[in-house]
Amino acid sequence: MLASDFESILPLLHVMVFCFGCVVGSFLNVVVWRLPRGESLLHPPSHCPLCGHGIRAWENIPIVSWLCLGGRCSACKAGISIRYPLGEAASGLLFWLIWFCALKRHLPLAVLPAYFYLTGALLAAAQIDRTHKIIPDAITLPGLLLAFCWSLALPTSRLALVAPDDPHSGAMLYNGLVDAMGEVGIALGQVPIAAAAVDCLLGAAVGFVLLAALGYAGKRLLPERLGREVMGFGDVKLLAMIGAFLGADACIYVLLAAAVAGFLAGACRRLLGQGGLLSAWPFGPFLAMAAYAWMAIGNYFFILMRGLH
Ligand SMILES: [Zn+2]
Repeated sequence: MLASDFESILPLLHVMVFCFGCVVGSFLNVVVWRLPRGESLLHPPSHCPLCGHGIRAWENIPIVSWLCLGGRCSACKAGISIRYPLGEAASGLLFWLIWFCALKRHLPLAVLPAYFYLTGALLAAAQIDRTHKIIPDAITLPGLLLAFCWSLALPTSRLALVAPDDPHSGAMLYNGLVDAMGEVGIALGQVPIAAAAVDCLLGAAVGFVLLAALGYAGKRLLPERLGREVMGFGDVKLLAMIGAFLGADACIYVLLAAAVAGFLAGACRRLLGQGGLLSAWPFGPFLAMAAYAWMAIGNYFFILMRGLH
C-alpha cells in the first residue's frame, strides 16, 4: 500500500481500532465475571442475571446498547452496572492508545497483534486481581504460549531483533546474552526464528526469576503475614508473560515502575488513613499499567533521564 493511501484511510483506521478495542472489552467483561467463578466463557450465552432474558445482538453493541437501554435490562428493567460500558470504553481507549503510539514511534506493524493481545490479557488480569486478588493461570499460561508461538511466526515483531541499538527497544539483556554466547550467539543472529525464540524465552525467564526472587526475599525478610501478602505467584506468572511478549529489559522497567506506583498508592492510602503501606492493593493492576506505559512510550526511564540532562 502506498503511503498516501495509508494516510487517506488513517482516520478510518483510528475509529476501527477503537471499535475493535470496545468489542474486545465486551468479551473481557464476560471473562472478568465468569473466569474467577469457574464458569464457561461461551455457555450459557449472555443473559440478564435477574430475569434470565437472553441478550439479543442489538443489546450487545459495546457502550451504545447500554446508553440506548438507559442502563436497564430491556425485559425486567433491572439496572445494568456502569462498569460494563466503562470496561468497554477503557479497552477501546487502550487499544487506540497502543496503536497510536506504535504509529508515532514508527514501530513495525508486526508488533501490533502481540501488543493487542497483551493489552486485553492485562486488562482482564488487572480487573480480576483487583476484585478477587487472584490472577488466573487461564490468562497467563496461554499468554506465555502465544507469545512464544508469535515470536516464531513473526520474528520481526521482536524489537530487540529489529532495533537492537534503540534504547527504546529494550535489547540490553538480549544483546548481553548473545555477546556472552560468543560464536553461538553470532550463529544465532543468522537465524531470526531462533533469535526471536531466545528473546522471548529470556523475557519470560527474567520476568519469572525477578518477581519470584523478590517474593521469596519478601517472605524471608518481612514478618510472615506481610511477606505472604507482598507477592502472589500469579504476579510472578503475569510478569513472565509480560517478559515473553515485550522482552527481558521491559520486565525490569515494568517491575520498577509498578513498585514505585504501588508504593506511592500505598503511601496515599496511609495518608488518608486507609491502611498500611503494603496492605490491601494487589500488585497486578500496577504491573499492567507499567506494561501499558512500556508499550506506549518504550524505555520511560531513558526518557526521564534525557529530560533531566
Ligand atoms: Zn432482566
